[in-house]
Amino acid sequence: MAFEDLNYQIYACKKCRLWQGAKHGVTGEGPINAKIMLIGQNPGADEDETGRPFIGRAGKFLTKILAENGIKREDVFITNIVKHVSPKNRKPYPDEVAACLPYLKTQISFIKPKIIVLLGASAKETPRLEGIEYIQIVHPSAAMRFTKMRETFIQQIAELAKRTSTIND
Ligand code: URA
Repeated sequence: MAFEDLNYQIYACKKCRLWQGAKHGVTGEGPINAKIMLIGQNPGADEDETGRPFIGRAGKFLTKILAENGIKREDVFITNIVKHVSPKNRKPYPDEVAACLPYLKTQISFIKPKIIVLLGASAKETPRLEGIEYIQIVHPSAAMRFTKMRETFIQQIAELAKRTSTIND
């Protein structure tokens, strides 16, 4: 299966109830050969509107801090565990996560990143594949809201940038 086919499957997915309230499946974006992959929980309203991950307030903040540390957003692959928005942005139910996880697993297998950065609670559910380094950091939404978490988040991105610069092809 080609990567594009996977995207079409996600756009057309009806494996759980979430498609009913969504405008777009948010597959993810970035180069298929990205060295770094970032994984969030599920798209919000802005992401649902546009079909693009992390483009709302939290996404802009994330993109800014990455850039300040020399990591270009267009060089990383960004996606979520669950690909459709949920009603009133509630936490996805376990059966919704379970239905969606095979997509993420396939994305990881395609991209084969060196590092996977788990944003907040996404760490619990993300499948661990061999040969990949996993780093859990504060979710950008929490970092925006709480000063202490913001400091930690900024430090974690700085460490990620340092770690990334030592990765070879
Ligand atoms: N928060 C997430 O976890 N994912 C998005 O795509 C946007 C906000």
